[in-house]
Amino acid sequence: MDTMAEEGPVVTLARRELFELGAAVGLALIAGAPQPAIASATASGPEPSGSMPKSQAQDDLLRMQGEIRGALKKPVEERSWIMVVDGRKCVGCQACVVACVAENVLPPGVTYRSVPEIEYGTYPEGRRYPMPTQCMQCDKPPCMAAANAIAPGSIAKRADGIVAIDYTRFRGRAVFEAAAKACPYRALYYDDGAFYTKDTPALQPYEKTVSHDYNRQWLREPGQASDPPAGGGRKCHFCLHRLNAGLLPACVSTCIGRALYFGDKNDPQSLVNEVLAANKGKILRIRENQGTEPRVYYLTDDPEFIAGFHG
Ligand code: SF4
Ligand code: SF4
Repeated sequence: MDTMAEEGPVVTLARRELFELGAAVGLALIAGAPQPAIASATASGPEPSGSMPKSQAQDDLLRMQGEIRGALKKPVEERSWIMVVDGRKCVGCQACVVACVAENVLPPGVTYRSVPEIEYGTYPEGRRYPMPTQCMQCDKPPCMAAANAIAPGSIAKRADGIVAIDYTRFRGRAVFEAAAKACPYRALYYDDGAFYTKDTPALQPYEKTVSHDYNRQWLREPGQASDPPAGGGRKCHFCLHRLNAGLLPACVSTCIGRALYFGDKNDPQSLVNEVLAANKGKILRIRENQGTEPRVYYLTDDPEFIAGFHG
């Protein structure tokens, strides 16, 4: 299937076309001039619910990591992981994409995350917006019904909100194509077992590094293109293996603009809830009107933009 990454880094559009593109490829298109950083964790803010000391908690990343560790003390069904993307702070550097590829040892053709840039408007009013996208961990995931109709149990909704693939069941092109077609966000990628350095004198060691998707150890060797996760579909899993270790998702901890927030929606003191509360009326969930109930929230200052997506 086509992937967002394959669509090219820049798209130039008129404003009406901008919304049409968003509808077509499932991208959030955030408009509005760059704004000052929002709701950071300061000494005057709420105490972190995790175990971090107050002095460290003044850093958003440390605060969120502390909150994750606090959430891990609860039963899994009492956690509710969400991500917030502040498009006003994203600089389009792609560091999160590189971090994700490295963290998950992703092969050619598989990109759990992409940051396409959208241009729109008419000179001299043209604008360009980088738009981080990934699996939205939908609460009502159409991919799951489509996949399980062919391969029962291949995609499951976890109690903490993460939509998880069972690599041992989600096998082959047919089930992948069905799930990918059902996903409004083009979030699934097929792993055909390829290596970036297969035509070089020696396969580079980093390509054979063990990956830890879904808290398992996945080996990758040449000539074993049918061994999971190769031979099936893959997607973002909110870095479940890192969460279980009390760490933030790799993309969040790498973001140089501090545009990404992650945490437990069930924790009223969490930074993600604080950020959402501070931005009421500026929150967008892509294709929400399709009933998917995505767990990734976008922030924008442009009400017209939000109206365009919900209309
Ligand atoms: Fe499934 Fe797509 Fe939703 Fe992810 S974004 S849960 S792949 S429908
Ligand atoms: Fe990749 Fe993890 Fe970020 Fe998902 S949460 S896009 S798997 S780095």
